[in-house]
Amino acid sequence: MSDSHHPETISIHAGRMAAVAHGDVMPPIHLSTTFERQQDGTFRDHIYTRSSNPNRTQLETKLAALEGGQVAVAFSSGMAAVNAAFNSMLKPGDHVVIPDDCYHGTRELANEIFARWGVEVSNIDMSDLRNVERALKPHTRLIWIETPSNPQLKITDVSGVIALARTKGLLVGCDNTFATPIWQRPLAMGADVVMHATTKFFSGHSDVLGGVLVLREAGELSARIQHYQQIAGAVPSPFDCWLLNRSLSTFSLRVRQQTASAGVLADFFASHPRIEKVFYPGLASHLNHDIARRQMTGYGSMLSILIKGDRDAAMTFAGKLRVFRHATSLGGVESLVEHRRTAEGAHPVSPDNLLRISVGVE
Ligand code: PLP
Repeated sequence: MSDSHHPETISIHAGRMAAVAHGDVMPPIHLSTTFERQQDGTFRDHIYTRSSNPNRTQLETKLAALEGGQVAVAFSSGMAAVNAAFNSMLKPGDHVVIPDDCYHGTRELANEIFARWGVEVSNIDMSDLRNVERALKPHTRLIWIETPSNPQLKITDVSGVIALARTKGLLVGCDNTFATPIWQRPLAMGADVVMHATTKFFSGHSDVLGGVLVLREAGELSARIQHYQQIAGAVPSPFDCWLLNRSLSTFSLRVRQQTASAGVLADFFASHPRIEKVFYPGLASHLNHDIARRQMTGYGSMLSILIKGDRDAAMTFAGKLRVFRHATSLGGVESLVEHRRTAEGAHPVSPDNLLRISVGVE
Protein backbone atom coordinates (compact mmCIF):
# COMPACT_ATOMS: atom_id res chain seq x y z
CA MET A 1 0.00 0.00 0.00
CA SER A 2 2.82 2.42 -0.63
CA ASP A 3 1.57 5.36 -2.67
CA SER A 4 1.97 9.11 -2.65
CA HIS A 5 -0.17 9.44 0.46
CA HIS A 6 1.77 11.53 3.02
CA PRO A 7 -0.19 11.62 6.28
CA GLU A 8 2.49 13.74 8.01
CA THR A 9 1.99 16.59 5.55
CA ILE A 10 -1.76 16.17 5.16
CA SER A 11 -2.41 16.23 8.90
CA ILE A 12 -0.68 19.62 9.18
CA HIS A 13 -1.62 21.40 5.95
CA ALA A 14 -4.81 19.97 4.42
CA GLY A 15 -7.85 22.26 4.57
CA ARG A 16 -5.82 25.34 5.46
CA MET A 17 -8.18 28.30 5.66
CA ALA A 18 -7.74 30.54 2.66
CA ALA A 19 -9.00 34.03 3.54
CA VAL A 20 -8.08 34.56 7.17
CA ALA A 21 -8.30 38.31 7.75
CA HIS A 22 -5.03 38.85 9.66
CA GLY A 23 -2.82 36.34 7.88
CA ASP A 24 -2.94 33.88 10.77
CA VAL A 25 -0.70 30.89 10.24
CA MET A 26 -2.87 28.88 12.60
CA PRO A 27 -6.65 29.15 12.25
CA PRO A 28 -8.83 31.22 14.57
CA ILE A 29 -11.93 29.69 16.18
CA HIS A 30 -15.12 30.79 14.42
CA LEU A 31 -17.71 30.93 17.18
CA SER A 32 -20.39 32.84 15.26
CA THR A 33 -23.43 30.64 14.76
CA THR A 34 -24.68 32.77 11.86
CA PHE A 35 -23.04 34.29 8.78
CA GLU A 36 -24.10 37.51 7.02
CA ARG A 37 -25.49 37.44 3.50
CA GLN A 38 -24.05 39.62 0.72
CA GLN A 39 -25.93 42.74 -0.52
CA ASP A 40 -27.88 40.78 -3.11
CA GLY A 41 -29.01 38.28 -0.46
CA THR A 42 -26.78 35.44 -1.59
CA PHE A 43 -24.67 33.48 0.87
CA ARG A 44 -20.90 33.41 0.97
CA ASP A 45 -19.32 30.18 2.26
CA HIS A 46 -21.47 29.56 5.31
CA ILE A 47 -25.05 30.18 6.45
CA TYR A 48 -25.58 28.72 9.91
CA THR A 49 -23.10 26.74 11.95
CA ARG A 50 -25.15 23.51 12.20
CA SER A 51 -24.99 23.32 8.38
CA SER A 52 -21.32 24.26 8.14
CA ASN A 53 -18.62 26.22 9.91
CA PRO A 54 -15.08 27.22 8.85
CA ASN A 55 -13.43 25.11 11.56
CA ARG A 56 -15.54 22.07 10.69
CA THR A 57 -14.87 22.50 6.97
CA GLN A 58 -11.14 22.58 7.67
CA LEU A 59 -11.38 19.45 9.81
CA GLU A 60 -13.52 17.58 7.28
CA THR A 61 -11.15 18.48 4.44
CA LYS A 62 -8.21 17.17 6.44
CA LEU A 63 -9.92 13.94 7.50
CA ALA A 64 -11.07 13.19 3.94
CA ALA A 65 -7.50 13.61 2.70
CA LEU A 66 -6.06 11.46 5.51
CA GLU A 67 -8.37 8.54 4.72
CA GLY A 68 -8.12 9.08 0.96
CA GLY A 69 -11.85 9.72 0.54
CA GLN A 70 -13.76 12.37 -1.40
CA VAL A 71 -16.05 13.53 1.43
CA ALA A 72 -15.77 13.59 5.24
CA VAL A 73 -18.69 14.32 7.54
CA ALA A 74 -17.87 15.17 11.16
CA PHE A 75 -20.03 14.42 14.20
CA SER A 76 -20.09 15.21 17.91
CA SER A 77 -19.10 11.66 18.92
CA GLY A 78 -18.05 8.36 17.40
CA MET A 79 -21.47 6.92 18.21
CA ALA A 80 -23.20 9.83 16.46
CA ALA A 81 -21.15 8.89 13.38
CA VAL A 82 -22.13 5.20 13.59
CA ASN A 83 -25.76 6.22 14.07
CA ALA A 84 -25.61 8.48 11.01
CA ALA A 85 -24.06 5.66 8.97
CA PHE A 86 -26.75 3.13 9.95
CA ASN A 87 -29.52 5.70 9.49
CA SER A 88 -28.30 6.65 6.04
CA MET A 89 -27.59 3.13 4.79
CA LEU A 90 -30.41 1.05 6.32
CA LYS A 91 -34.19 1.14 6.29
CA PRO A 92 -36.82 -0.99 8.04
CA GLY A 93 -36.76 -4.54 6.64
CA ASP A 94 -33.03 -4.46 5.82
CA HIS A 95 -30.47 -6.82 7.30
CA VAL A 96 -27.05 -5.73 8.59
CA VAL A 97 -24.08 -7.93 9.51
CA ILE A 98 -21.90 -6.64 12.35
CA PRO A 99 -18.92 -8.22 14.19
CA ASP A 100 -19.60 -10.26 17.35
CA ASP A 101 -16.63 -8.50 18.90
CA CYS A 102 -16.92 -4.76 18.31
CA TYR A 103 -17.28 -1.59 20.36
CA HIS A 104 -20.19 -2.40 22.69
CA GLY A 105 -21.95 0.87 21.83
CA THR A 106 -22.13 -0.15 18.16
CA ARG A 107 -23.50 -3.55 19.17
CA GLU A 108 -26.17 -1.97 21.39
CA LEU A 109 -27.10 0.62 18.78
CA ALA A 110 -27.69 -2.13 16.20
CA ASN A 111 -29.25 -4.81 18.41
CA GLU A 112 -31.37 -2.60 20.61
CA ILE A 113 -32.18 0.62 18.80
CA PHE A 114 -32.13 -0.23 15.08
CA ALA A 115 -33.70 -3.66 15.73
CA ARG A 116 -36.67 -1.80 17.25
CA TRP A 117 -37.12 0.04 13.96
CA GLY A 118 -37.31 -3.22 12.00
CA VAL A 119 -33.66 -3.73 11.01
CA GLU A 120 -32.48 -7.33 11.33
CA VAL A 121 -29.00 -7.70 12.84
CA SER A 122 -26.55 -10.65 12.73
CA ASN A 123 -23.56 -10.60 15.11
CA ILE A 124 -20.87 -12.63 13.36
CA ASP A 125 -17.33 -13.77 14.10
CA MET A 126 -15.68 -12.12 11.10
CA SER A 127 -12.28 -13.71 11.77
CA ASP A 128 -13.46 -16.28 9.23
CA LEU A 129 -14.73 -14.87 5.94
CA ARG A 130 -16.92 -17.95 5.47
CA ASN A 131 -18.98 -16.88 8.50
CA VAL A 132 -19.71 -13.56 6.78
CA GLU A 133 -20.73 -15.29 3.57
CA ARG A 134 -23.02 -17.70 5.44
CA ALA A 135 -24.68 -14.80 7.30
CA LEU A 136 -25.83 -12.99 4.13
CA LYS A 137 -29.56 -12.95 3.36
CA PRO A 138 -31.57 -11.72 0.39
CA HIS A 139 -32.37 -8.51 2.28
CA THR A 140 -28.80 -7.85 3.56
CA ARG A 141 -27.87 -4.25 2.80
CA LEU A 142 -24.72 -3.51 4.80
CA ILE A 143 -21.67 -5.35 6.15
CA TRP A 144 -20.14 -3.35 9.01
CA ILE A 145 -16.52 -4.24 9.82
CA GLU A 146 -14.40 -3.26 12.80
CA THR A 147 -10.81 -4.41 12.37
CA PRO A 148 -8.86 -4.72 14.60
CA SER A 149 -11.90 -5.14 16.84
CA ASN A 150 -12.49 -3.67 20.26
CA PRO A 151 -11.41 -5.27 22.56
CA GLN A 152 -10.32 -8.71 21.25
CA LEU A 153 -8.31 -7.35 18.30
CA LYS A 154 -10.01 -9.74 15.89
CA ILE A 155 -8.95 -9.20 12.29
CA THR A 156 -11.41 -9.19 9.38
CA ASP A 157 -10.20 -9.70 5.82
CA VAL A 158 -11.28 -6.31 4.43
CA SER A 159 -10.63 -7.12 0.75
CA GLY A 160 -12.38 -10.47 1.15
CA VAL A 161 -15.50 -8.83 2.58
CA ILE A 162 -15.46 -6.19 -0.15
CA ALA A 163 -15.19 -8.82 -2.89
CA LEU A 164 -18.13 -10.67 -1.33
CA ALA A 165 -20.18 -7.48 -1.04
CA ARG A 166 -19.48 -6.52 -4.66
CA THR A 167 -20.97 -9.76 -6.00
CA LYS A 168 -24.21 -8.96 -4.15
CA GLY A 169 -24.38 -5.17 -4.45
CA LEU A 170 -23.96 -4.58 -0.70
CA LEU A 171 -22.46 -1.61 1.13
CA VAL A 172 -19.34 -2.03 3.29
CA GLY A 173 -18.54 0.26 6.24
CA CYS A 174 -15.41 -0.04 8.33
CA ASP A 175 -14.69 1.30 11.82
CA ASN A 176 -11.01 2.15 11.40
CA THR A 177 -10.56 3.67 14.87
CA PHE A 178 -8.00 1.15 16.19
CA ALA A 179 -5.86 0.98 13.04
CA THR A 180 -5.95 4.68 12.03
CA PRO A 181 -5.19 5.68 8.41
CA ILE A 182 -1.49 5.55 9.28
CA TRP A 183 -1.69 1.74 9.23
CA GLN A 184 -4.83 0.77 7.31
CA ARG A 185 -6.83 2.43 4.51
CA PRO A 186 -10.07 0.57 3.84
CA LEU A 187 -11.29 3.08 1.22
CA ALA A 188 -8.27 2.27 -0.96
CA MET A 189 -9.31 -1.39 -0.65
CA GLY A 190 -12.82 -0.51 -1.88
CA ALA A 191 -14.90 0.10 1.27
CA ASP A 192 -17.74 2.58 0.83
CA VAL A 193 -17.43 4.30 4.21
CA VAL A 194 -14.80 4.55 6.92
CA MET A 195 -15.78 5.57 10.42
CA HIS A 196 -13.62 6.92 13.25
CA ALA A 197 -14.20 7.82 16.83
CA THR A 198 -12.05 10.97 16.49
CA THR A 199 -12.20 10.96 20.30
CA LYS A 200 -9.33 8.47 20.16
CA PHE A 201 -6.14 8.72 18.08
CA PHE A 202 -7.08 11.85 16.09
CA SER A 203 -7.66 13.77 19.31
CA GLY A 204 -4.79 11.94 20.99
CA HIS A 205 -5.10 13.86 24.26
CA SER A 206 -8.33 12.46 25.77
CA ASP A 207 -9.98 15.88 25.77
CA VAL A 208 -12.29 15.93 22.71
CA LEU A 209 -15.30 13.77 21.87
CA GLY A 210 -15.94 13.37 18.14
CA GLY A 211 -16.62 11.13 15.18
CA VAL A 212 -16.36 11.13 11.42
CA LEU A 213 -17.60 9.25 8.36
CA VAL A 214 -15.34 9.37 5.31
CA LEU A 215 -16.87 8.39 1.97
CA ARG A 216 -14.87 6.90 -0.88
CA GLU A 217 -16.95 8.81 -3.40
CA ALA A 218 -19.00 11.99 -3.51
CA GLY A 219 -22.50 10.98 -4.59
CA GLU A 220 -25.94 10.02 -3.46
CA LEU A 221 -24.78 8.29 -0.24
CA SER A 222 -22.45 11.09 0.85
CA ALA A 223 -25.22 13.65 0.19
CA ARG A 224 -27.62 11.59 2.32
CA ILE A 225 -25.09 11.46 5.18
CA GLN A 226 -24.40 15.20 4.95
CA HIS A 227 -28.12 15.88 5.01
CA TYR A 228 -28.52 13.62 8.05
CA GLN A 229 -25.65 15.43 9.80
CA GLN A 230 -27.24 18.83 9.23
CA ILE A 231 -30.83 17.85 10.05
CA ALA A 232 -30.23 15.46 12.97
CA GLY A 233 -27.71 18.04 14.21
CA ALA A 234 -25.14 15.99 16.18
CA VAL A 235 -22.34 18.27 14.96
CA PRO A 236 -19.04 19.02 16.69
CA SER A 237 -18.55 22.53 18.12
CA PRO A 238 -16.11 24.94 16.43
CA PHE A 239 -13.82 24.60 19.45
CA ASP A 240 -13.81 20.80 19.25
CA CYS A 241 -13.02 21.02 15.52
CA TRP A 242 -10.22 23.45 16.26
CA LEU A 243 -8.80 21.17 18.96
CA LEU A 244 -8.90 18.20 16.58
CA ASN A 245 -7.18 20.20 13.84
CA ARG A 246 -4.49 21.12 16.34
CA SER A 247 -4.06 17.55 17.60
CA LEU A 248 -3.78 16.22 14.07
CA SER A 249 -0.51 18.11 13.60
CA THR A 250 1.23 15.47 15.71
CA PHE A 251 -1.03 12.56 14.72
CA SER A 252 1.50 10.53 12.76
CA LEU A 253 4.30 11.04 15.29
CA ARG A 254 2.10 9.92 18.15
CA VAL A 255 0.68 6.88 16.39
CA ARG A 256 4.11 5.68 15.25
CA GLN A 257 5.60 5.99 18.74
CA GLN A 258 2.59 4.39 20.39
CA THR A 259 2.72 1.47 17.96
CA ALA A 260 6.44 0.89 18.46
CA SER A 261 5.93 0.70 22.23
CA ALA A 262 2.88 -1.58 21.89
CA GLY A 263 4.92 -4.07 19.88
CA VAL A 264 7.52 -4.24 22.67
CA LEU A 265 4.81 -4.72 25.31
CA ALA A 266 3.06 -7.42 23.29
CA ASP A 267 6.32 -9.40 23.04
CA PHE A 268 6.93 -8.96 26.76
CA PHE A 269 3.47 -10.22 27.70
CA ALA A 270 3.62 -13.10 25.21
CA SER A 271 6.44 -14.74 27.16
CA HIS A 272 5.25 -13.78 30.66
CA PRO A 273 4.30 -16.71 32.92
CA ARG A 274 1.33 -14.89 34.50
CA ILE A 275 -0.33 -13.99 31.21
CA GLU A 276 -2.70 -16.55 29.69
CA LYS A 277 -3.07 -14.94 26.26
CA VAL A 278 -2.13 -11.80 24.33
CA PHE A 279 -4.38 -10.35 21.63
CA TYR A 280 -2.21 -8.31 19.26
CA PRO A 281 -2.30 -8.67 15.46
CA GLY A 282 1.44 -8.07 15.19
CA LEU A 283 2.22 -11.34 16.98
CA ALA A 284 2.84 -14.35 14.72
CA SER A 285 0.63 -16.31 17.14
CA HIS A 286 -2.43 -14.14 16.32
CA LEU A 287 -5.09 -16.18 14.51
CA ASN A 288 -5.15 -13.79 11.53
CA HIS A 289 -1.62 -12.41 11.63
CA ASP A 290 -1.20 -13.16 7.91
CA ILE A 291 -4.28 -11.14 6.98
CA ALA A 292 -3.18 -8.29 9.25
CA ARG A 293 0.25 -8.30 7.58
CA ARG A 294 -1.39 -8.09 4.16
CA GLN A 295 -3.82 -5.25 4.88
CA MET A 296 -2.01 -3.20 7.54
CA THR A 297 1.36 -1.46 7.33
CA GLY A 298 1.65 -1.45 11.15
CA TYR A 299 -0.34 -3.14 13.90
CA GLY A 300 -1.40 -0.21 16.08
CA SER A 301 -1.08 0.50 19.77
CA MET A 302 -4.07 -1.39 21.18
CA LEU A 303 -3.66 -4.80 22.76
CA SER A 304 -5.55 -6.97 25.21
CA ILE A 305 -4.31 -9.59 27.63
CA LEU A 306 -5.88 -12.40 29.63
CA ILE A 307 -4.45 -12.50 33.13
CA LYS A 308 -4.05 -15.99 34.59
CA GLY A 309 -6.82 -16.04 37.18
CA ASP A 310 -10.25 -14.47 37.61
CA ARG A 311 -11.80 -11.02 37.57
CA ASP A 312 -10.22 -10.15 40.93
CA ALA A 313 -6.76 -11.03 39.65
CA ALA A 314 -7.29 -8.77 36.63
CA MET A 315 -8.67 -5.90 38.74
CA THR A 316 -5.79 -6.21 41.21
CA PHE A 317 -3.24 -6.09 38.38
CA ALA A 318 -4.89 -2.99 36.85
CA GLY A 319 -5.13 -1.26 40.22
CA LYS A 320 -1.46 -1.79 41.07
CA LEU A 321 -0.02 -0.10 38.00
CA ARG A 322 1.73 3.18 38.67
CA VAL A 323 2.08 4.85 35.26
CA PHE A 324 -0.77 3.22 33.34
CA ARG A 325 -4.12 4.57 34.63
CA HIS A 326 -7.17 2.33 35.06
CA ALA A 327 -9.73 4.16 32.93
CA THR A 328 -11.84 3.72 29.83
CA SER A 329 -11.07 5.12 26.33
CA LEU A 330 -7.95 4.88 24.22
CA GLY A 331 -5.65 6.55 21.76
CA GLY A 332 -4.34 9.29 24.06
CA VAL A 333 -0.71 10.16 24.81
CA GLU A 334 -1.20 8.62 28.27
CA SER A 335 -1.29 4.82 28.61
CA LEU A 336 -4.57 3.36 29.89
CA VAL A 337 -5.58 -0.09 31.03
CA GLU A 338 -9.17 -1.22 31.43
CA HIS A 339 -11.12 -4.16 32.78
CA ARG A 340 -13.35 -4.30 29.76
CA ARG A 341 -16.16 -6.62 30.84
CA THR A 342 -17.30 -4.26 33.59
CA ALA A 343 -17.39 -1.38 31.08
CA GLU A 344 -19.53 -3.13 28.47
CA GLY A 345 -23.02 -2.21 29.66
CA ALA A 346 -25.95 -4.58 30.05
CA HIS A 347 -24.70 -7.32 27.70
CA PRO A 348 -20.94 -7.77 28.21
CA VAL A 349 -19.11 -10.30 26.03
CA SER A 350 -15.45 -9.94 27.05
CA PRO A 351 -13.80 -12.60 29.24
CA ASP A 352 -13.70 -11.74 32.93
CA ASN A 353 -9.90 -11.83 33.05
CA LEU A 354 -9.39 -9.55 30.01
CA LEU A 355 -7.59 -6.23 30.32
CA ARG A 356 -7.43 -3.87 27.36
CA ILE A 357 -4.37 -1.69 27.03
CA SER A 358 -4.00 1.57 25.13
CA VAL A 359 -0.32 2.37 24.84
CA GLY A 360 0.61 6.06 25.04
CA VAL A 361 3.84 7.88 24.22
CA GLU A 362 5.55 7.61 27.62
N1 PLP B 1 -15.77 2.73 17.74
C1 PLP B 1 -14.77 2.27 18.50
C2 PLP B 1 -13.86 1.22 17.97
C3 PLP B 1 -14.60 2.77 19.81
O1 PLP B 1 -13.61 2.29 20.56
C4 PLP B 1 -15.49 3.77 20.29
C5 PLP B 1 -15.37 4.31 21.66
O2 PLP B 1 -14.62 3.78 22.47
C6 PLP B 1 -16.52 4.22 19.45
C7 PLP B 1 -16.63 3.68 18.18
C8 PLP B 1 -17.49 5.27 19.92
O3 PLP B 1 -16.85 6.53 20.01
P1 PLP B 1 -17.36 7.68 21.00
O4 PLP B 1 -17.07 7.24 22.40
O5 PLP B 1 -16.61 8.89 20.58
O6 PLP B 1 -18.84 7.84 20.78
